[in-house]
Amino acid sequence: MSNSTRCAACKSLRRRCSQDCVLAPYFQANNPERFSCVHKIYGASNVTKLLEQLPVDLRANAVDSMVFEASSRIQDPVYGCTQIIFQLRQQIIQTQYEIAQIQAQIAFNNVQQQMHHQQHYHHGNQYQNQHHSGGGGGGGAEPSSQTWMNASEQAEEQHSHLGFTSDFNFTS
Ligand SMILES: [Zn+2]
Repeated sequence: MSNSTRCAACKSLRRRCSQDCVLAPYFQANNPERFSCVHKIYGASNVTKLLEQLPVDLRANAVDSMVFEASSRIQDPVYGCTQIIFQLRQQIIQTQYEIAQIQAQIAFNNVQQQMHHQQHYHHGNQYQNQHHSGGGGGGGAEPSSQTWMNASEQAEEQHSHLGFTSDFNFTS
């Protein structure tokens, strides 16, 4: 390979890019930033050693993850990509909580609807009875607060089943 077609790594390290350059397939000359951040965090020789130990079909993924980790580390020297992972986990937890709440609401609505149907059924059958006994006012067919409690408890239960206790805690 001539100097004009050196990979980004060899160009940056000011060396000849050999035919069998391990880095060449993953660090093309038109994207020097990709190599420079990996070099800054891991060092070119470590990256080369790591890639040499890997089967060829896994190398591209390894480079992608190193580039991601290195660029995150440069942007956030304290937490690096763990900060991004933490934020995504928080999003998952929040979304799971919202799902549980919505499921509880659906369960509550279903119970309410069921009771509404039952009320209609009883109303049809017992209209005469109720009407004459004069006790139609109370009815008792409104979904009670107990029903809502049950739905909430279901949500809470789901909540805990979803594994909300985060074991990812580096902020202490
Ligand atoms: Zn090279």
